[in-house]
Amino acid sequence: MKTVKQETQMKTLEKECIFCKNKVEVKVKESDYENWKKGSHIQDAFPYLKPDEREIFISGICGKCFDNMFWWKFLNKMTWVFICYKERKV
Ligand SMILES: [Zn+2]
Repeated sequence: MKTVKQETQMKTLEKECIFCKNKVEVKVKESDYENWKKGSHIQDAFPYLKPDEREIFISGICGKCFDNMFWWKFLNKMTWVFICYKERKV
């Protein structure tokens, strides 16, 4: 994850969707980001984020991909990602 400092108080976090590889920029308050790193729940740390912005934080999937997916598809993909990851490690 790349962090771009933009303003004194705000942090722009750039996250890449694990499916479509789109970069999603999420703007958060610097202090909230610190709280989140210390272990705050995402909804407590960033109550102003949109659900799809939170989603990329939690699962690494952008809102668009998340909407287009059924759960079984998601699980298949995750299994596939896991297998690829394992094979690369061996
Ligand atoms: Zn996506």
